Amino acid sequence: MVLPRWKKLLTGSPDGKLLQPYTFNSRRGGGTYNERNVVGIIEGTDPGKKDEFIIISAHFDHVGIRKAVEGDSIYNGADDNAAGTCTLLGLAQTFHENNYQPGRTILFASVSGEEMGLHGSRHLASNMPLPVENAYSNVNFEMTGHSEDLGRGNYFMTGCSFSNLDDVIQEFTEGKSQNLIDTVAMSDRLFYMSDNIAFARIEREEAIVWTDPKFTSLEN
Ligand SMILES: [Zn+2]
Repeated sequence: MVLPRWKKLLTGSPDGKLLQPYTFNSRRGGGTYNERNVVGIIEGTDPGKKDEFIIISAHFDHVGIRKAVEGDSIYNGADDNAAGTCTLLGLAQTFHENNYQPGRTILFASVSGEEMGLHGSRHLASNMPLPVENAYSNVNFEMTGHSEDLGRGNYFMTGCSFSNLDDVIQEFTEGKSQNLIDTVAMSDRLFYMSDNIAFARIEREEAIVWTDPKFTSLEN
């Protein structure tokens, strides 16, 4: 449904393709899965920075059908992660409609296979359509609609020890109705549970190797 619009909005990978197919085997599902990521690129305009790229990501899969709760076995994924996927699409659309010309290149990555072990982001990190050494940062949207516990207009981020983004956001939100809640205590634990970890490993030159027990324990 969204693909024709993406085609208008963005260029695809350098090979002209928006879909990145991949295959994974799951111990949990007990089978082989043919999946795909969706990628789009807005080329940067600053001659000194355009080779660097920022990954904006969100996973679009959810858990499907599981044990019934009160007779309902369909696990709806509005929170996790239709909301994050909509955020990603909304950003891409806004950038396009306002003819936003970023200094650095932006790689929009809507990835799949997250719930079964971050398979889409792992595949993308190991098969980047742009030179992987030029990856500058990643902003990953996970459950952007999940506000009932925090209160309207409040949000939190994970990976605080991986960047200075929380400091930057605090400056922008001062005196506005949005607040970044200080959740450093839960930040690192949750950081290991979403796609951002695949991209964080690029910086550590570990994109190909997946041996961290914190990570491998997620795939069960
Ligand atoms: Zn999720």
